Amino acid sequence: MKLLVTGGQGMVGSAVEGKNDEIIHLSRDNCNLLNKKQTHRLFSQLKPDGVIHCAGKVGGIGGNSNFKGEYFYNNLLINTNVIEASRLAGVKRLVAYLSTCVFPDNVTYPLTIDQIHTGEPHSSNYPYAYAKRMADVQIRAYREQYGLNYTSIIPSNIYGPNDNFNLDHGHVMPMLIHKLYLAKKNNTDFTVWGSGKPLREFIYSKDIAKISKWILENYEGTDPLIISGDEEVSIKDLVDLLVQEFNFKGNVIFDSTKPDGQYKKPSDNSKIKELLPNFEYTPFEKGIKETVNWFIENYENARK
Ligand code: GDP
Repeated sequence: MKLLVTGGQGMVGSAVEGKNDEIIHLSRDNCNLLNKKQTHRLFSQLKPDGVIHCAGKVGGIGGNSNFKGEYFYNNLLINTNVIEASRLAGVKRLVAYLSTCVFPDNVTYPLTIDQIHTGEPHSSNYPYAYAKRMADVQIRAYREQYGLNYTSIIPSNIYGPNDNFNLDHGHVMPMLIHKLYLAKKNNTDFTVWGSGKPLREFIYSKDIAKISKWILENYEGTDPLIISGDEEVSIKDLVDLLVQEFNFKGNVIFDSTKPDGQYKKPSDNSKIKELLPNFEYTPFEKGIKETVNWFIENYENARK
C-alpha cells in the first residue's frame, strides 16, 4: 500500500511504519497544507492509496487559549484541503485525527461519538474543537456523496517521542517533562499548572500509530473511533511518576493561577476494543520511561 502521512515528522505521524508498505512522511517543508493549490498538486502527483492525516495546529491548554484565531483558521483549512485533495487524487481510504476536545462541555460521561455535535465545546478550546468537528462533517458528507471509505479517530491525550515540548503551548506530558528536565538541571522548583486534580486518559504514540494503520486498512464503518487508554490518571499521579522517573528531589509547586481546563473526560473506547481485542497497549510506566529517555537523548533537536 502506498501510504501518505501528513504531519509525518510529528509525534504520531513519525511513528507510523509498515514493512510491506511505501510510506511517505510528509512534513511542512514538503508541502504547505494551508495552500490549496500546493496540496492538490502534491496529492495528485503522489496518488497514494491511503492517507493518515495527522497534521494540524495543536497545542495544550496554553496554545488553545492564546491562539484561538490561528487554531481555528489553520485546522479548518488544513483539514478541508487534505480531505478534498485526497478525493480529487482518487484516495480510497483516509483516517483523520480529531480530538476529545470536540465533545461538548456539558456532556454525559463517558464520551460517546453520538454526543460530538450536541452542544458547545469547552470555552478554553472551542475554535479548535469546532474546526475539528468540521472534519467529521466533511468526512461523513464525502462518504455519503462520493462513497469514499474515509473516517476519523478521536484520541485521548497522546504522548511520546517527537512531541512538541514547548514550555508555553505544549500538552501536559511534554511540558512537564521539559520543565522537570530544567528544574533538575538548574536546581529550581518544578511548577505544575492548576490543582493537579483533573483526570486524563493517556495513550502512547506508537500504539495509536499502529492502531491508525489498522483502521485505515480494515475499518469499514462510518463512525469515528475513540482511541484511549483504559485508566484515568490524575495530573498529580502523573507528576509523581515523572518526579520518580527523573529522581527529582526539589519542590513541586501547583500553580492555582493556571487553568485546570475540563475536570475529566473519560471516553468510551469499547468499539476499538471489540475490533482489536488482542492489541497489547504499552504500559504507562514503560511509555513514560521511553519518552523521558528520548527527550533527554534528543534534547538539542527536540521541538521545544
Ligand atoms: P487538555 O487535556 O486538552 O486539557 O490539555 P493539556 O494536556 O494541556 O492539559 C491537561 C491538564 O494538565 C490540565 O488540567 C492542566 O491544568 C494540567 N497541567 C498541569 N501542568 C501543565 C503544564 O505544564 N502544561 C499543560 N499544558 N497542562 C498542565
